[in-house]
Amino acid sequence: MHDVVVVGAGTAGCVLASRLSEDPDLSVLLLEAGPSSRPLETRIPAAFSRLFRSQLDWGDRTVPQPELDGRELVFPRGRALGGSALLNAMMVLRGQRADYDGWAAAGCSGWSWDEVEPAFARSAAGPFPLASLPDRHPLTVAFVEAAQAAGIPFAPDLNSGDAVGVGFVPVSQRRGRRFSVLDGYLRPARRRPNLAVVTGAQATRVLLERGRALGVAYRLEGEVVEQEARAAREVVVSAGAIGTPHLLQLSGIGSRAMLERAGVAVVHELPGVGSNLLDHLANGLLVRTRGVETLASAQSPRNLLRWALRGRGPLTSNVAEAAAFVRLRPDAEAPDLELVFAPVLFEEEGLKQPTEHGFTLAVVLLAPRSSGTVALRSGDPHEPPAIDPRYLTDPDGEDRRTLVDGLRLARRVLAQEPLARYADGEILPGEDAESDEELAAHLRASSQTLYHPAGTCRMGTDPGAVVDPELRVRGLEGLRVADASVMPRLPRGHTNWPVVMIAERAADLIRASLA
Ligand SMILES: Cc1cc2nc3c(=O)[nH]c(=O)nc-3n(C[C@H](O)[C@H](O)[C@H](O)COP(=O)(O)OP(=O)(O)OC[C@H]3O[C@@H](n4cnc5c(N)ncnc54)[C@H](O)[C@@H]3O)c2cc1C
Repeated sequence: MHDVVVVGAGTAGCVLASRLSEDPDLSVLLLEAGPSSRPLETRIPAAFSRLFRSQLDWGDRTVPQPELDGRELVFPRGRALGGSALLNAMMVLRGQRADYDGWAAAGCSGWSWDEVEPAFARSAAGPFPLASLPDRHPLTVAFVEAAQAAGIPFAPDLNSGDAVGVGFVPVSQRRGRRFSVLDGYLRPARRRPNLAVVTGAQATRVLLERGRALGVAYRLEGEVVEQEARAAREVVVSAGAIGTPHLLQLSGIGSRAMLERAGVAVVHELPGVGSNLLDHLANGLLVRTRGVETLASAQSPRNLLRWALRGRGPLTSNVAEAAAFVRLRPDAEAPDLELVFAPVLFEEEGLKQPTEHGFTLAVVLLAPRSSGTVALRSGDPHEPPAIDPRYLTDPDGEDRRTLVDGLRLARRVLAQEPLARYADGEILPGEDAESDEELAAHLRASSQTLYHPAGTCRMGTDPGAVVDPELRVRGLEGLRVADASVMPRLPRGHTNWPVVMIAERAADLIRASLA
């Protein structure tokens, strides 16, 4: 029996296990479905997309997306000690002051910018340091200059809270290697006698009795018999924006109609579980280059040696090296579009390794109006849930319009020096695609996820909310959620550092409630 059982050792789970076990009087069990192995690709920054579809990825796809030509999009998420933080692009961009003030205004008291800032600062000052890339690619420098020539101001700190502009992206690295929550939070904590970590352990159900969580049932890899882990004080589900609603639904917590369809007995009706799936959709210009080497040739014995011996060279690139946050709609309260620059062709949703030199200038929808669902297909815990982000389905078509305008802005940047001199023609969508219809067709044919699913167990106080502002599952005792799924809206940035912040605050809330 442990005091606290944490399910999922991704970004949130690593932070929680570390912070909770700082109290020697609290015993903590961390359960993770994936393995503890760490192949070389998890350390080499430029290799992150090689982990897609590996044994460290759940290997999901979305259901067919009606507004994206019916495509089933590749939807990577980490399945390992470290979770998605082991295969992410290491960008550290927390979003805007307006995002967190918006959370507070929507009933999430305690989560305004001023209130969450100390948790961000605490992480950055210690286990989650922000670094600069040791060797910026010359094309990235050219992009940042070209964006300024196109009228986007230089932003020296993209995490200032009101950054509108272009800048170099801070990364989670140390000495040219990935430095994730696994390195900063979990590893130093693993020596503690009050922390147990079990990998290859997939939770199949939260054990509930008379409205209280008593622990979880889980199955060890390769075994058929289920085990139980009992929690004397709390169960915290940190299985991510897909895994968390899935586990709650398997436990009979969710919408009655969905549970009944899947043949699962309703234990606690909570219709919001699995709704409000938000994600950042991305697309972009793929541009052939001349007169410059890109990351397409980064993988060579010489570069591997440079990386291994000195932590330098192109393999230290996190690929997405620079970004711009812009306000396309004059009435938007904060940036509504992000440009992301990568000095390599990012093709076929990251599954294709580049065969020629080029760069990617991506546009990202920062504040999507469309939202979707995560839904149980059956009561079999090993059957993946149906992931339906419903991209670009907002009734007014505002999401599509923003991305079309974003593509035009990206082309304006592309036309500026010093970037223009390296460009040797658009591969996608191609210079001929000019009209709104042609650009919309390009969006349908090749948009992809930016890997930021969130919102599926959203925090709030209204009937649709799943957790209250202290992250307790509404209507149940001894059960919290802490991960990307509690976000009521997506930050207009990226999600990893915000999840670190959420877990830091969750640890504070849990320790305060157990004191
Ligand atoms: C390819 C990719 C690139 C990304 N790039 C960036 C980036 O550059 N910058 C950024 O800010 N964000 C990025 N993100 C997003 C960011 O990494 C995530 O938002 C963040 O890691 C989510 O943290 P989490 O704790 O909510 O979930 P995860 O980190 O996904 O952790 C969930 C964990 O729970 C485990 N789990 C699930 N179900 C169960 C179960 N039933 N039993 C036991 N364990 C279970 C999973 O295996 C996983 O380890 C990226 C994500 C991906 C996938």
